[in-house]
Amino acid sequence: MQYVLGLDFGGTKLAAGLIDSSGRLIEFRRCPTDPSAGPAGAISAVQRLVDSFTTRVRPAGVGISFGGPIDQARTRTLLSHHGPGWEEYPLVEHIGRLWPGPVVMENDANAAALGEFCFGAGRGYRNLLYVTVSTGIGGGVIINGELYRGSRGLSGEIGHTIVVPSGPLCPCGKQGCLEAVASGPSIARHYAGRSGLDPTTVTAEEVFQQAERGNPLARETLEWSINLLGIGLANAINLLDPDVVIIGGGVSRAGDRLFAPLRAAVAAAAAPSPPGAVPILPAALGDAVGVLGAAALVLSTSAARQQSAQTGQDPSDP
Ligand SMILES: [Zn+2]
Repeated sequence: MQYVLGLDFGGTKLAAGLIDSSGRLIEFRRCPTDPSAGPAGAISAVQRLVDSFTTRVRPAGVGISFGGPIDQARTRTLLSHHGPGWEEYPLVEHIGRLWPGPVVMENDANAAALGEFCFGAGRGYRNLLYVTVSTGIGGGVIINGELYRGSRGLSGEIGHTIVVPSGPLCPCGKQGCLEAVASGPSIARHYAGRSGLDPTTVTAEEVFQQAERGNPLARETLEWSINLLGIGLANAINLLDPDVVIIGGGVSRAGDRLFAPLRAAVAAAAAPSPPGAVPILPAALGDAVGVLGAAALVLSTSAARQQSAQTGQDPSDP
C-alpha cells in the first residue's frame, strides 16, 4: 500500500494527514495557525503534527494545500492574508527537504475541489464546480475529470465576480463582489449594520439562529445574501454547465437553512433548463478537505505519470 502526506496551510488552522492510495485518511492532526510565526514556524508546527502520527511510514509524496495565492509554477507562495513572510516563499522546496520525494502544491480552493471530486461529494461526476463560502468565497473547477487552472492559475475566482454594481466594498478593493455580500463576515456585517450592532460581535451562524427565531432583519439579511449567492452560482452554471455544484466552507454548515433557499435562488436565476438539472450538494469532507485535496494532487499526478510511462507520453505535454 502506498501512502501520501497531505499538508494544509490554512489561515487559521494547520493540518496534516496520512492518506492511503484509496483515499482513506489514516491519520489526521490539526493545530491553530500562529500567523506571527511566519513560514518557518508553520513548517515546524506541521512537522510536529506529522511526528505525532502513530503510523510510521515513509510517504511516497507530499501534497500541499495553501490558503493564499501561489505562483504559476506552483512552487512558491505569493502571500498569505493572515501573516507576513509568505511573499515569494519557496514552500515546495522547504517541504521537499523534510520529506524527500515529489511535492506538489495548489491553492486551497483548487485542492478542495480536487479532494471533493476524488473522495467526497463529487465522486462519480466529471464536471464539477466547487465553491467555498467561508471567511471569503473561493472556487475550483474540474472539467472532464481534471482541475482547470486557467492561463494564469486564476480560474474559479467566483468570489470576485460582481453581483451588485457599486455594492459593498470587497477586501480585493472592488465593489459588489460576491464575497462582499455572501461570505460569513459579509452576512454578519450586513445584519449588524441593519440592527445597529457592533459587526465584530456577530457571526453568520448567529444570523441564521436569529432568522430561525423569526427576527425579521436576520431573515431579510439571509434572503438578500443567499439570493445573491444564487445569482453568482447561476452565472457560473450558465458559463460552465457542470454536472454538480458542491458548496463547502463554514457557512455551508448551516445545512438546509442555506441549501433550501439557495437551490431556489439558483433555479430562479439560471438559464431555463430541466428542473433540478444541476444538483447543489454540501461538501462531504469537512475539516479534512485540505489534506485530502492535497493528497489527491499527489495521487492524480502519480497516476498521470504511470499512464504516461505506459503510453510513452509526457503528462505535461498536451
Ligand atoms: Zn472582490
